[in-house]
Amino acid sequence: MSIDYDALKKRGFLRSKEDGVFTLRTRIASGNYTGEHLEAISRIAKKYGKGFTHLTVRQGIEIPFIRYEDIDAVEKEIKDVGILPGASGPRLRATTVCPGNNWCKRGIVNTFALFEKIENAGILCGLDLPHKFKIVISGCPNTCTRAQSSEIGLHGAADGKTIGYAVYLGGCGGRFPRIGFKLDKIFTEDEAIDVIKKVITFYKTHAKPRQRLALLIEQIGKESFLNAIQ
Ligand code: SF4
Repeated sequence: MSIDYDALKKRGFLRSKEDGVFTLRTRIASGNYTGEHLEAISRIAKKYGKGFTHLTVRQGIEIPFIRYEDIDAVEKEIKDVGILPGASGPRLRATTVCPGNNWCKRGIVNTFALFEKIENAGILCGLDLPHKFKIVISGCPNTCTRAQSSEIGLHGAADGKTIGYAVYLGGCGGRFPRIGFKLDKIFTEDEAIDVIKKVITFYKTHAKPRQRLALLIEQIGKESFLNAIQ
Protein backbone atom coordinates (compact mmCIF):
# COMPACT_ATOMS: atom_id res chain seq x y z
CA MET A 1 0.00 0.00 0.00
CA SER A 2 1.40 3.42 -0.93
CA ILE A 3 0.76 6.18 1.61
CA ASP A 4 0.85 9.87 0.70
CA TYR A 5 2.74 11.04 3.79
CA ASP A 6 2.83 14.68 2.71
CA ALA A 7 -0.96 14.79 2.31
CA LEU A 8 -1.35 13.25 5.77
CA LYS A 9 1.11 15.77 7.21
CA LYS A 10 -1.07 18.60 5.92
CA ARG A 11 -3.97 17.01 7.80
CA GLY A 12 -1.86 17.00 11.01
CA PHE A 13 -0.84 13.31 10.97
CA LEU A 14 2.92 12.92 11.22
CA ARG A 15 4.74 9.71 10.40
CA SER A 16 6.14 7.82 13.39
CA LYS A 17 9.26 5.69 13.45
CA GLU A 18 7.01 2.63 13.28
CA ASP A 19 5.42 1.97 9.86
CA GLY A 20 1.68 2.55 9.68
CA VAL A 21 1.62 4.55 12.93
CA PHE A 22 1.10 8.31 13.13
CA THR A 23 1.12 11.16 15.63
CA LEU A 24 -1.77 13.61 15.40
CA ARG A 25 -0.60 17.18 16.01
CA THR A 26 -3.43 19.47 17.07
CA ARG A 27 -3.68 23.18 17.70
CA ILE A 28 -6.27 25.62 18.94
CA ALA A 29 -6.40 29.43 18.69
CA SER A 30 -3.89 30.99 21.14
CA GLY A 31 -3.37 27.57 22.80
CA ASN A 32 -6.66 27.88 24.71
CA TYR A 33 -7.99 24.30 24.75
CA THR A 34 -11.37 24.19 26.50
CA GLY A 35 -12.52 21.42 28.84
CA GLU A 36 -14.55 19.98 25.94
CA HIS A 37 -11.46 19.92 23.73
CA LEU A 38 -9.44 18.19 26.45
CA GLU A 39 -12.18 15.61 27.07
CA ALA A 40 -12.25 14.81 23.35
CA ILE A 41 -8.45 14.55 23.19
CA SER A 42 -8.45 12.29 26.24
CA ARG A 43 -11.14 10.07 24.69
CA ILE A 44 -9.31 9.87 21.34
CA ALA A 45 -5.96 9.11 23.00
CA LYS A 46 -7.53 6.23 24.95
CA LYS A 47 -9.60 4.93 22.02
CA TYR A 48 -7.06 5.18 19.19
CA GLY A 49 -3.66 5.82 20.83
CA LYS A 50 -2.01 4.54 24.00
CA GLY A 51 -3.90 6.75 26.44
CA PHE A 52 -1.51 9.66 26.74
CA THR A 53 -0.64 12.88 24.93
CA HIS A 54 2.39 15.08 24.43
CA LEU A 55 2.51 18.88 24.73
CA THR A 56 4.43 20.62 21.94
CA VAL A 57 6.55 23.74 22.34
CA ARG A 58 4.06 25.56 20.08
CA GLN A 59 1.18 25.14 22.55
CA GLY A 60 -0.37 22.20 20.74
CA ILE A 61 -1.30 18.74 21.97
CA GLU A 62 -0.12 15.66 20.10
CA ILE A 63 -1.70 12.22 20.26
CA PRO A 64 0.87 9.55 19.35
CA PHE A 65 0.38 5.93 18.24
CA ILE A 66 -2.60 6.35 15.91
CA ARG A 67 -2.91 3.63 13.32
CA TYR A 68 -3.25 4.50 9.64
CA GLU A 69 -6.64 2.80 9.37
CA ASP A 70 -8.04 5.01 12.19
CA ILE A 71 -6.98 8.36 10.69
CA ASP A 72 -10.33 9.24 9.08
CA ALA A 73 -12.26 8.42 12.27
CA VAL A 74 -9.84 10.44 14.44
CA GLU A 75 -10.01 13.36 12.04
CA LYS A 76 -13.81 13.38 12.24
CA GLU A 77 -13.79 13.24 16.04
CA ILE A 78 -11.42 16.22 16.42
CA LYS A 79 -13.33 18.24 13.81
CA ASP A 80 -16.62 17.58 15.62
CA VAL A 81 -15.36 19.50 18.67
CA GLY A 82 -13.56 22.23 16.71
CA ILE A 83 -9.97 21.10 17.25
CA LEU A 84 -7.67 22.04 14.39
CA PRO A 85 -4.80 20.08 12.83
CA GLY A 86 -1.35 21.47 13.61
CA ALA A 87 1.19 22.21 10.90
CA SER A 88 4.62 20.80 10.12
CA GLY A 89 6.94 20.93 7.11
CA PRO A 90 7.48 24.03 4.94
CA ARG A 91 4.52 26.01 6.21
CA LEU A 92 3.40 28.70 8.60
CA ARG A 93 3.41 26.92 11.95
CA ALA A 94 0.96 27.43 14.79
CA THR A 95 1.42 30.90 16.27
CA THR A 96 2.40 30.78 19.93
CA VAL A 97 0.63 33.36 22.05
CA CYS A 98 1.12 34.17 25.74
CA PRO A 99 -1.93 35.29 27.78
CA GLY A 100 -0.99 38.97 27.61
CA ASN A 101 -3.36 41.25 29.53
CA ASN A 102 -6.13 38.63 29.45
CA TRP A 103 -4.85 37.38 32.78
CA CYS A 104 -1.10 37.83 33.16
CA LYS A 105 -0.50 40.75 35.55
CA ARG A 106 2.47 41.93 33.47
CA GLY A 107 0.58 41.93 30.16
CA ILE A 108 0.02 45.34 28.54
CA VAL A 109 -1.65 44.24 25.28
CA ASN A 110 -4.40 41.81 24.33
CA THR A 111 -2.41 39.10 22.58
CA PHE A 112 -5.48 36.95 21.82
CA ALA A 113 -7.11 39.89 20.02
CA LEU A 114 -4.03 40.40 17.84
CA PHE A 115 -3.92 36.71 16.99
CA GLU A 116 -7.60 36.77 15.99
CA LYS A 117 -6.94 39.74 13.73
CA ILE A 118 -3.99 37.95 12.13
CA GLU A 119 -6.20 34.97 11.31
CA ASN A 120 -9.01 37.24 10.09
CA ALA A 121 -6.48 38.83 7.74
CA GLY A 122 -6.06 35.40 6.11
CA ILE A 123 -2.66 34.63 7.63
CA LEU A 124 -3.44 31.07 8.64
CA CYS A 125 -1.49 28.20 10.11
CA GLY A 126 -0.58 25.69 7.40
CA LEU A 127 0.06 28.29 4.68
CA ASP A 128 2.56 26.76 2.24
CA LEU A 129 5.92 28.59 2.28
CA PRO A 130 9.52 27.84 1.22
CA HIS A 131 10.45 26.58 4.69
CA LYS A 132 9.15 26.55 8.24
CA PHE A 133 8.01 29.99 9.37
CA LYS A 134 7.03 30.99 12.89
CA ILE A 135 5.14 33.89 14.41
CA VAL A 136 5.04 34.47 18.16
CA ILE A 137 3.16 37.01 20.25
CA SER A 138 3.97 38.11 23.80
CA GLY A 139 2.09 40.53 26.00
CA CYS A 140 5.06 42.46 27.41
CA PRO A 141 8.83 42.93 27.01
CA ASN A 142 9.46 39.79 29.09
CA THR A 143 8.64 38.10 25.77
CA CYS A 144 7.90 34.66 27.20
CA THR A 145 7.23 33.33 23.67
CA ARG A 146 10.75 34.52 22.63
CA ALA A 147 10.10 37.22 20.02
CA GLN A 148 13.79 37.41 19.09
CA SER A 149 13.99 33.75 18.06
CA SER A 150 11.24 33.49 15.44
CA GLU A 151 10.77 34.72 11.89
CA ILE A 152 8.30 37.32 13.20
CA GLY A 153 8.17 38.06 16.91
CA LEU A 154 5.88 40.60 18.51
CA HIS A 155 5.67 41.73 22.09
CA GLY A 156 3.70 44.36 23.92
CA ALA A 157 5.71 47.56 24.38
CA ALA A 158 5.12 51.04 25.72
CA ASP A 159 6.72 54.38 24.95
CA GLY A 160 5.22 57.10 27.12
CA LYS A 161 1.47 56.96 26.53
CA THR A 162 1.86 54.87 23.38
CA ILE A 163 1.16 51.17 23.92
CA GLY A 164 1.48 48.73 21.06
CA TYR A 165 3.81 46.07 19.69
CA ALA A 166 7.55 45.86 19.21
CA VAL A 167 8.36 43.74 16.15
CA TYR A 168 11.40 41.52 15.58
CA LEU A 169 12.17 40.01 12.18
CA GLY A 170 14.47 37.25 11.01
CA GLY A 171 15.10 35.20 14.10
CA CYS A 172 15.06 31.41 14.17
CA GLY A 173 16.09 28.42 16.23
CA GLY A 174 17.20 25.07 14.89
CA ARG A 175 20.70 24.03 13.84
CA PHE A 176 21.71 27.50 12.73
CA PRO A 177 19.98 29.83 15.19
CA ARG A 178 19.72 33.56 14.60
CA ILE A 179 18.55 36.46 16.75
CA GLY A 180 16.03 38.65 14.95
CA PHE A 181 16.45 42.42 14.67
CA LYS A 182 13.99 44.90 16.13
CA LEU A 183 12.14 47.45 14.01
CA ASP A 184 12.52 51.01 15.27
CA LYS A 185 8.88 51.77 16.12
CA ILE A 186 5.94 50.72 18.27
CA PHE A 187 3.22 49.32 16.04
CA THR A 188 -0.56 49.34 16.35
CA GLU A 189 -2.32 46.02 15.78
CA ASP A 190 -3.20 47.01 12.20
CA GLU A 191 0.33 48.19 11.46
CA ALA A 192 1.74 44.96 12.87
CA ILE A 193 -0.54 42.92 10.61
CA ASP A 194 0.59 44.99 7.63
CA VAL A 195 4.23 44.15 8.47
CA ILE A 196 3.39 40.45 8.83
CA LYS A 197 1.66 40.41 5.44
CA LYS A 198 4.54 42.18 3.70
CA VAL A 199 7.21 39.95 5.23
CA ILE A 200 5.35 36.75 4.38
CA THR A 201 4.66 37.92 0.82
CA PHE A 202 8.31 38.88 0.35
CA TYR A 203 9.51 35.60 1.83
CA LYS A 204 7.16 33.52 -0.29
CA THR A 205 8.26 35.32 -3.46
CA HIS A 206 12.01 35.47 -2.90
CA ALA A 207 13.18 32.61 -0.68
CA LYS A 208 14.62 29.43 -2.18
CA PRO A 209 13.13 26.13 -1.05
CA ARG A 210 14.35 25.32 2.48
CA GLN A 211 15.81 28.80 3.00
CA ARG A 212 14.68 30.35 6.26
CA LEU A 213 13.92 34.05 6.44
CA ALA A 214 17.10 34.72 8.45
CA LEU A 215 19.26 33.29 5.67
CA LEU A 216 17.33 35.16 2.98
CA ILE A 217 17.97 38.42 4.87
CA GLU A 218 21.67 37.55 5.19
CA GLN A 219 21.81 36.85 1.46
CA ILE A 220 20.23 40.10 0.30
CA GLY A 221 21.26 42.34 3.20
CA LYS A 222 19.13 43.82 5.94
CA GLU A 223 18.78 47.24 4.25
CA SER A 224 17.61 45.72 0.96
CA PHE A 225 15.14 43.58 2.86
CA LEU A 226 13.77 46.59 4.77
CA ASN A 227 13.49 48.62 1.57
CA ALA A 228 11.65 45.78 -0.12
CA ILE A 229 9.06 45.56 2.63
CA GLN A 230 8.98 49.37 2.97
S1 SF4 B 1 5.36 37.84 28.04
FE1 SF4 B 1 4.63 39.19 29.65
S2 SF4 B 1 2.40 39.11 29.45
FE2 SF4 B 1 3.21 37.33 28.40
S3 SF4 B 1 3.20 35.66 29.92
FE3 SF4 B 1 5.24 36.62 29.92
S4 SF4 B 1 5.12 38.09 31.56
FE4 SF4 B 1 3.01 37.61 31.00
